Amino acid sequence: MNAVFASAIEEWYRRNGRDLPWRHTHDPYAVWVSEIILQQTRVAQGLDYFRRFMEKFPSVQALAAASEDEVLLLWQGLGYYSRARNMHKAAKQIVAMGGFPTDYSDVRKLSGVGEYTAAAICSICYGRPCAVLDGNVFRVLSRYLGIDTPIDSSQGKKVFRQMADEMLDVQNPAVYNQAIMDFGAMICTPKSPQCTDCPLADTCSAFAGGLTAELPIKSRKVKIRNRFLTYLILTDAQGRVYIRKRGKGDIWQGLFEPFCHESDSPLDAAQAAALVPGCIPVKSVCGLTHQLTHQLLHADGYLCRIASPVPPLSGIWVERAELQDYAMPRLVVSLIEKIMSL
Ligand code: SF4
Repeated sequence: MNAVFASAIEEWYRRNGRDLPWRHTHDPYAVWVSEIILQQTRVAQGLDYFRRFMEKFPSVQALAAASEDEVLLLWQGLGYYSRARNMHKAAKQIVAMGGFPTDYSDVRKLSGVGEYTAAAICSICYGRPCAVLDGNVFRVLSRYLGIDTPIDSSQGKKVFRQMADEMLDVQNPAVYNQAIMDFGAMICTPKSPQCTDCPLADTCSAFAGGLTAELPIKSRKVKIRNRFLTYLILTDAQGRVYIRKRGKGDIWQGLFEPFCHESDSPLDAAQAAALVPGCIPVKSVCGLTHQLTHQLLHADGYLCRIASPVPPLSGIWVERAELQDYAMPRLVVSLIEKIMSL
């Protein structure tokens, strides 16, 4: 362990760490829920979801007993819905095991739990000497130690794993892990790190060498795939709206949406109307976008009346007021809201 590094960030954390509800407990269920929510969500947004989640499902048994639709509805708006589906699956695994596992290797086997989450749970709840390693830790260690091995290379993963383990304060793994995470999120930030207020400035390699903007290094740029989605919000003579559940093997599995067609480029109004025989577009909202990690979604929506009898479609027809009872992707919710308000 680098004692200077560990004591400086732990001291900083005691004075400046964020006061968050999951930090007042060692209950592995609560810590697990918070870690999964925070995997791809900022703390400010995740807080509310955490509270609502714990209120609705106060125990792993309650979560295991819920339906997937209930879990997804509560998750609506958080994105990356596979997290919710995996949590639901893992809750059933935990109940079948007779309780939350306490060994790192057993925690790691739970659906949706990777190395980082398992290390966080085991250190925070059981005091095990498991070092967390995620984007925050890569950045802090790369800068502090001046490591320029690309963090997304297999060599980089090895080097940083070894460094993370070596730097860990094995006497206080819970405090150390939370400290390095908060420190990376609040002081050693991706852009404009606060080096002049940093307690590590005197011993930091990147600061000494003027390399904070260069480190950490990534070798590959993420390739973004553009996807063009045309939504037809079909309404029948009674004013009901057509929705269907998305299938497996793509984004938003298990969530509901109106009729959707994907194409290689945007469709014009006539092409959109031709997707469902007998539909008459009455309003439209075009040009919405939604960024996912490797995909940029472009969505156009058309509110359409549909003559009876309605063509055979595989989904369901629901009252407009009942749409909110179905979990839908945020992009779709916002498209429907926009088009309905025109
Ligand atoms: S001095 Fe700057 S780069 Fe170094 S650890 Fe502190 S905030 Fe990060």
